Amino acid sequence: MRVDVVTIFPDFFGVLDVSLLGKARAAGVIEIGVHDLRAHTHDRHRTVDDTPYGGGAGMVMRPEPWGEALDALITDQTTLIVPSPAGHRFTQLAARELAGKPHLVFACGRYEGIDQRVIDHYSERIEVRELSLGDYVLNGGEVAAMAMIEAVGRLVPGVVGNPQSLDEESHEDGLLEYPSYTKPASWRGHEVPPILLSGNHAAITAWRREQQLDRTARIRPDLLGEQ
Ligand code: SAM
Repeated sequence: MRVDVVTIFPDFFGVLDVSLLGKARAAGVIEIGVHDLRAHTHDRHRTVDDTPYGGGAGMVMRPEPWGEALDALITDQTTLIVPSPAGHRFTQLAARELAGKPHLVFACGRYEGIDQRVIDHYSERIEVRELSLGDYVLNGGEVAAMAMIEAVGRLVPGVVGNPQSLDEESHEDGLLEYPSYTKPASWRGHEVPPILLSGNHAAITAWRREQQLDRTARIRPDLLGEQ
C-alpha cells in the first residue's frame, strides 16, 4: 500500500518512523510520502489561505495549491481522504475498507478547512471520503490523518506480527473487547478472575463473550443498537 499526506506541517509526521508503522515502512510493506502544501504556492509569503466568501470568522484554504499538490499525486487508483469534523464517522469498518485500497492520499486541512471545490472537483475523478475522527474539533487534519493511518496501516498484512490479535479487538465484531490480564495472578489485592486460570477454553471463551456484552452495554450501549 502507498499513503501520501499533504500538509502545511510535514514535521508532524516524523512519528511515522516509530514503532510498528516505522518498521513496516522500513521493510517496504507500506510506503508513506509526506508533502508540503506550501511547495505548491507561488507568492513570496507562500500563502495557502484567504478570507471566506460570504464573510465570517477565520480563513479558508485556497484551492490552487491543493489542485497542484493533488494533481501531482493522484492516479485512477487513489482514494482521497479529507479529514473533517463534518465528515462521515471514521470507524473500524472504514479502516478495514481503506486497508484494501492500493493508494490513499490524505489532505490535511487547517483554519476553517479547504475550499469545497477541491472536494467537488476530485469527486468527479476518484473516490473521495470526508472522514471525521469524532464529534469534536481539532486544529488541523494532521492528528486525524495520523490516527487513520495507524488504524488502517495495522490492518495491512505484514504490519502486525500476529494477525489473529487483530480479529479479537474492540470494534472488530461490533463490541468492545473483554478485559485482559497478565502475570502476576495477584496484584495489590486484585486477583485475576479464576476462570482465566482454569484451563477450560470453552468456559473462558463464554466468559469473555459475556464480558464483552456487559462492557458494551455499560459503556457503549449505542453499539448494541448497531448489531
Ligand atoms: N470549520 C470546520 C468545521 O466546523 O467543520 C472545522 C475546521 S478545523 C478547525 C480545521 C481542520 O481540522 C479541518 O479542516 C480538518 O482537517 C481537521 N479536523 C478538525 N476536527 C476534526 C475531526 N473531528 N475529524 C477529522 N478532522 C478534523
